[in-house]
Amino acid sequence: MPTDVQQTFWWTLAGTLALGWGVTTWRSLVRRKRRHERRARYLEGVRYLLDDKPDRALEVFLSLSEIDDETVDTHFALGSLYRRRGEVERAIRVHQHIVDRTSLSTDTRDAALTELARDYFRAGLYDRAEELFLSLAGSGREPALALSHLVRIYEIQHEWQQAADAHKRLRNVGVPEQPAAIAHFYCEMAEAAIAAQDYRRAIEHLDSATREQHDFGRSAILRGDLARRQGDPGLALQLYRSVIRRDFHLLALVLPRLADVAKQAGEPQQFDEALEELVRNGAGNPAEIAYAAIVSGYYDDPLILDCVREMLTIDSDLRDMTAAFLPSAAEPTREQLHAIAGALRNVVLRHARYRCSQCGLDSSTFLWHCPACHAWDTLRGVAALEFLPKAALPRSAA
Ligand SMILES: [Zn+2]
Repeated sequence: MPTDVQQTFWWTLAGTLALGWGVTTWRSLVRRKRRHERRARYLEGVRYLLDDKPDRALEVFLSLSEIDDETVDTHFALGSLYRRRGEVERAIRVHQHIVDRTSLSTDTRDAALTELARDYFRAGLYDRAEELFLSLAGSGREPALALSHLVRIYEIQHEWQQAADAHKRLRNVGVPEQPAAIAHFYCEMAEAAIAAQDYRRAIEHLDSATREQHDFGRSAILRGDLARRQGDPGLALQLYRSVIRRDFHLLALVLPRLADVAKQAGEPQQFDEALEELVRNGAGNPAEIAYAAIVSGYYDDPLILDCVREMLTIDSDLRDMTAAFLPSAAEPTREQLHAIAGALRNVVLRHARYRCSQCGLDSSTFLWHCPACHAWDTLRGVAALEFLPKAALPRSAA
């Protein structure tokens, strides 16, 4: 190779290498500068957060065009903080900002979509939440979380069939928080069918409820109601008696039904027999039966009035109060016991008669579904009569 050509070759090579080195160095400097600027903006956002200026912090974080492993956690923490504070619109903006970044891993994107769906749920935007949770239930990394939210959405919207379907899918991938909820969904559908006089459909739903939950009090009550409508008081009697044997807390619901159906069946003695059986088996004592009768408004039966008498002997407060109106040392007559039960019912009606055993919510009516904590069948009778106005009671611990 001639000397000139050799020289040209080496110069060209050197120039190319120098250019390559220059470009690489320049790119590296630009990247470092951007990273530095991003970090400065990020720290500025953190400072705003620490100074309790969430609006300024939000603008700074949303202005970051790139999210890396370091800043994404802060975005998640910020979104979750906003949602906890009830500032759902801000939470949605933060989580949407993460979702819009295409450079993130599938896991991070799934996590952001889950948080966004939870924001929509919290904001009451159930259609959007449902759409996202449906997609996450099919392909997301946490299908159980998505399905449990779908169950809640369908419960809120009274879409009972969809709630049951989502509950079944949830059961296949995890443990539902409330395994008995699905039986209640079928009972809800049965109640609607009974109201529409579609008894065949109602029985199908009740059969589904029983398949899901054996010895289920609510479905047995509804099946008994159906039997009465269809002229089978004997079956209704049998079902109602089975309910109070198993679920004594449902006595106030069942008592008037039991009394009616025993008369309808021509076997009024079955009412007393059912109550005597409860006392004999230790399922409930006479005072508890009397209280359930007073709550239900059915206290005409002589046996119930005997239970009211027993309640007066057990409860010293009640005994002292009623003794003032009764002749001394005399046993109250049935008429007097009936009047006392009526007066107690008036007092009871002015107070909460049921309390949720999970969250403590007070309710004046029996509800299968607690509207506060969304638990099923957790309301229980409140046996104490609260005579003091609420303001006079000691404050309970927060
Ligand atoms: Zn509750």
